[in-house]
Amino acid sequence: MDNPFLDRSFHIRWSQLSAEQIEPAVDAALAAADAALAGITRLEPAAADYAGTFLALESATELLNETWAKVSHLTSVADAPALRAAHNAALPRVSAFQTKIPLNAELWRRLKSAAQHPSVAALRGEHRRLVEETTADFRQQGADLPPEKKARLEAVQGELAALTQKYSENVLDATNAWSLVLTETDRLRGLPDHARESARQAALKKGHGTETQPAWLFTLHQPSLEPVMLYAEDESLRREVWQAAADIGRRAPHANLELVQKILALRQEKAALLGQPHFADLVLSRRMARSGAQARTFLEDLHRLVRPAFLREGRELEEFKARQTGGQVARLAPWELAYWAEKLRRERYDFDEEQLRPYFPLPVVQAGMFEIARRVFGLRVTELPAGAVETWHPEVKYYELHDEAGRHLGSFYADWHPRESKRGGAWMNYLITGGPRADGTRAPHLGLICGNLTPPNGAQPALLTHREVETIFHEFGHLLHHLLGEVEVKSLNGVNVAWDFVELPSQIMENWCWERESLDLFARHHVTGELIPPGLFERMIAARNFRSASATMRQLGLARLDLDLHMERVESMGPDLAAWLQGRLQDYLTVTEPAGPTIENRFTHIFSDPVGYAAGYYSYKWAEVLDADAFTRFKREGIFNGAVGREFVKKILSRGNGADPMALFIDFMGRPPDQQALLERAGLASL
Ligand SMILES: [Zn+2]
Repeated sequence: MDNPFLDRSFHIRWSQLSAEQIEPAVDAALAAADAALAGITRLEPAAADYAGTFLALESATELLNETWAKVSHLTSVADAPALRAAHNAALPRVSAFQTKIPLNAELWRRLKSAAQHPSVAALRGEHRRLVEETTADFRQQGADLPPEKKARLEAVQGELAALTQKYSENVLDATNAWSLVLTETDRLRGLPDHARESARQAALKKGHGTETQPAWLFTLHQPSLEPVMLYAEDESLRREVWQAAADIGRRAPHANLELVQKILALRQEKAALLGQPHFADLVLSRRMARSGAQARTFLEDLHRLVRPAFLREGRELEEFKARQTGGQVARLAPWELAYWAEKLRRERYDFDEEQLRPYFPLPVVQAGMFEIARRVFGLRVTELPAGAVETWHPEVKYYELHDEAGRHLGSFYADWHPRESKRGGAWMNYLITGGPRADGTRAPHLGLICGNLTPPNGAQPALLTHREVETIFHEFGHLLHHLLGEVEVKSLNGVNVAWDFVELPSQIMENWCWERESLDLFARHHVTGELIPPGLFERMIAARNFRSASATMRQLGLARLDLDLHMERVESMGPDLAAWLQGRLQDYLTVTEPAGPTIENRFTHIFSDPVGYAAGYYSYKWAEVLDADAFTRFKREGIFNGAVGREFVKKILSRGNGADPMALFIDFMGRPPDQQALLERAGLASL
């Protein structure tokens, strides 16, 4: 059949892809995958060898994966009703197919038998890793369970999917249910113009106020809430908004407490079914941290090192407020923290992010980033002229990536600005996995990077914030992880690594956004061509670590709450849970008067998906430790040092999940990760 979704050529014919082809394409890909699986289960178990089972299973879903990658990518960048309907109709079938694979008893019997075959004993490297990872995947999903327990596990998964969906709907509905309409300008004191203007527009849209008699509407969504908490002079306004946000998930009809208990009980049951003491150990056994206890120790170590600075920052803020208001030094209320911190920041640094924008025109930033990739990793990025290759939208650019020997390692699309049909945020993804092939040749990889960055304004290029510049570097790091992959087993290539390792390649790239030498390659005033003036650079660096201990402690507290919920038996505490958590977290929370509630009833990271970030929130800090530590080699040996860069490619970027991530890290650093570099970067070392 000539269905372009099933066409596996490297240059995807985007203009040919249409919604009505999705169903037949998915049908055909599922049928092909089914037939391939049937081929494996027809084998005599005794004759099952490595190629006939593990490798055959690996290639069984290749066509399905590539087909589905195109479908889901299109829903992210070119959403349309027909496309979404076709995607949503096919999604349950695709995920059901994937879930059933590890529960296929006949398949599992062949894999176990092949694992004993001499062809497996002789395996090395990635192929040995494939056997280990596949068997661990099957076991972790219940392949070894007797039928009645398998059935129970499936039921638990189903309930978890439904309850976590409900939890996340409650948070969304509670967030949307609240709004505040103001009609007195007096209450808007302190709010920046852009915040007032959006509030006025929002009110008009909902039928409040007129052009001559304006009203202002505020909601609990971040862009509306944040300026209020930072700038509103009217304390009663901040208190009202803070209280409403704190109540998300705590009040009927959107109360989540009961769901929290049920979700935790089901996760505990799932862990027990699979022979683990608690959900954290189930999730972490195959991540770098290995166990809940080790992840918790990681947090506690950082906590101990950061706590003195955290307490000092708290006192400093209380004293600052007392000085400003002429009052006594006293505890702040929770709705005062962000407000006084922002005032202190402005007084101390006189630094506004907006001052940097003229120095970051997107084309110059990107060219500088490619130059860094050339110097450090020996890569050459070439943009193909518009029209040379089809893309999904005229704004999308297409690039080829070569190494110094001229090998075509891969290609990628970059799609950087918002469109109505595009989802929010920034992300990297891949469409084709190439890499070394059994016959000794190598196929190029195909990936993409997308974002919702500030768009160009008329003839003026897109001028980015520094945070947006970091975003580009971050996604480019993920992209290199895919494109530089030299892994023979596709499912082990690139970003298919443990959750607490995957952000190392992306976050390490952000370091080049903070060094004078590298900034000088890509930060140039869009009119004058000038570099960032020294004074502005110094203020930017100084402001980077303002209240750094408090920000760190907040992340540590959330991670600790997540682990405590998934390591301790809390599922039947009922309403006592909140007080129990306050007790466990007291050294992590900023002491306020009154105390604020903990966020278990609106913590969507860990409760809006059957697994998601559950027992994994610590990964944010963990990955920061890895990237800060690995970057010390560049700091010491030169941030453009090509020898270190090529070593990073050889030992980390090209390896994917071809070996244990801790082994890869140690191979590059010569030792396990050390927290010191992160503390230094955050201005928190030896305090
Ligand atoms: Zn990332």
